[in-house]
Amino acid sequence: MVDLISQYEKIKPEVDSAIQSVISKAQFIKGPDVLEFEKELQNYLGVKHVIACANGTDALQIALMAIGLEPGDEVITPSFTYIATVEVVALLNLKPVFVEVNKDTFTIDVSKIEEAITPKTKAIVPVHLYGQSVDMEALEAIAKKHNLPIIEDNAQAIGSTYTYNNGTVKKTGSMGTIACTSFFPSKNLGCYGDGGAIMTNDDLLADKLKMIANHGQSKKYYHDVVGCNSRLDTVQAAVLRIKLRLLDSYCVERRKVADFYDASFANHPKITTPARNKNSYHVFHQYTMLIENTNRDEFQQKLADAGIPSMIYYPVPAHKQKMFESLKLEESNLPITDWLTERVISLPIHTEMDQEQLEFITKTVLNSI
Ligand SMILES: *Cc1c(COP(=O)(O)O)cnc(C)c1O
Repeated sequence: MVDLISQYEKIKPEVDSAIQSVISKAQFIKGPDVLEFEKELQNYLGVKHVIACANGTDALQIALMAIGLEPGDEVITPSFTYIATVEVVALLNLKPVFVEVNKDTFTIDVSKIEEAITPKTKAIVPVHLYGQSVDMEALEAIAKKHNLPIIEDNAQAIGSTYTYNNGTVKKTGSMGTIACTSFFPSKNLGCYGDGGAIMTNDDLLADKLKMIANHGQSKKYYHDVVGCNSRLDTVQAAVLRIKLRLLDSYCVERRKVADFYDASFANHPKITTPARNKNSYHVFHQYTMLIENTNRDEFQQKLADAGIPSMIYYPVPAHKQKMFESLKLEESNLPITDWLTERVISLPIHTEMDQEQLEFITKTVLNSI
């Protein structure tokens, strides 16, 4: 699905020397690269604070811990997402309340959020799924009206933007009360292990987030709140500083692949190519299309036989996961999510694809469906 080896080959000298430098100075924890990377990501996103942490799941958990929720409080989120978004809600004894996604763009259907709000609702967690922004302008209006914080799950969409109706352009991961991202190797900005970050424009929240990520510590060995230990390794920060400079070009490469797939599958009776949200710059973390009137398992097998990987993101929506059995989430009425789950399929998309690979994949898809 990705080709991280070829990508590494192109930046090998720079990456190797950056990693070597961290090791030779033994700056493994909180080395200068971490602070520099945080500053560079602040500039890139146009956000006041970036707090690097150990992974995207921690970022979401720390964000939810920072906004002062009580057990049983409700958090609105899609069920059609990677499990981490919902898992952290349950882990903190909060109640996930699911809202449907749009059938064509796969992101949360903002028009259905208000009907899910109750007096217990305390936060909204939109997911910029597959690499494009949720309709943030409409979402912000609802959040403002009900005085609810927005926690963006930007793990799949770093590099994407959202354009407001007045023409203002903002990066995803800079708009929410808090935003979270992941640097898992296959993400659009990936490191060489685990990594994540939390973003906010709020000074007080930034202090709180930092404190929670560092054992609730206010000064050395004085711990004010129960927190956790979530740090980005210096080695990972050093790699990320190099790759952040390339992120925009990586997004362009992914979009080229998506354009080629779109053109190749246009108007196919069994394929619906992914719709692009009109206000978002889609950075295609995944190229996920819908297939109908065909057997998806057999189709996947034919692709696999030809040496082409494909994935179902995600085969089981959150509300049907066994881990939430006791929460009775399966009673959520989410026909679009269920419908999508049976039809989505993601094709390889990354920064290193050449014309020959693309033609082979599209030809095989068309012959196999
Ligand atoms: C990858 C991902 C996460 C979790 O990130 P990790 O770094 O793997 O913990 C959370 N949400 C979404 C939507 C993701 O894709």
